[in-house]
Amino acid sequence: MKDYHTHHPNTAGGSICAVTRADWERVAAVPGMTPAFGVHPWHAHEVQDPADFAFELDDWLYRHPSAEVGETGLDASDKWQHTLEAQRLLLHLHLGAAFRHDRLVHLHCVRCHAELLGILKERARCNTLPRVLLHAWNGSHEMAREFLALGAIFSVGLRELSHSRAEERYARIPEGKIFPESDDAPENWARTLALFRLMRGGLNLR
Ligand SMILES: [Zn+2]
Repeated sequence: MKDYHTHHPNTAGGSICAVTRADWERVAAVPGMTPAFGVHPWHAHEVQDPADFAFELDDWLYRHPSAEVGETGLDASDKWQHTLEAQRLLLHLHLGAAFRHDRLVHLHCVRCHAELLGILKERARCNTLPRVLLHAWNGSHEMAREFLALGAIFSVGLRELSHSRAEERYARIPEGKIFPESDDAPENWARTLALFRLMRGGLNLR
């Protein structure tokens, strides 16, 4: 089973996501992994020229035909709420590039599930919605069903799988729609995979 969302090399393979623009060269050079190019919502406000960013992302996706997009998303936690305007603009630029190049987008979402759902629904209505993965998914099952209806997939790490509400959040998500991730804790990968297999019943997880 590959690592569906990480920022560190993993010998299991998987998707390695950039956090800032300075990361793109690094993730593109990791052997055996799929790079994702983007700017994390925590750094969205640091992007000086969004148009320049959009042209550059477009160029990198042309040059890396199997690359994905991200990490992007929305974070309305106390620490990052004041940068939401910048986050929204960057999110739209990532989603647009991913749709144009038909790539998967890695989405981060903290205290913004309803807004993110609205954005994706609007894109679905306009036929401009790319494939999306919601990483570190911790929304309710009702919310998960709304995202599933848009074709979304999910990834979860040890923190999410260890939560007291993990069973109600993850057990009812269909096979093939939820996957393990190590995110920023590569040392947790083996335990994450083991717990994921135990919770999901071990079907088709080789
Ligand atoms: Zn991440």
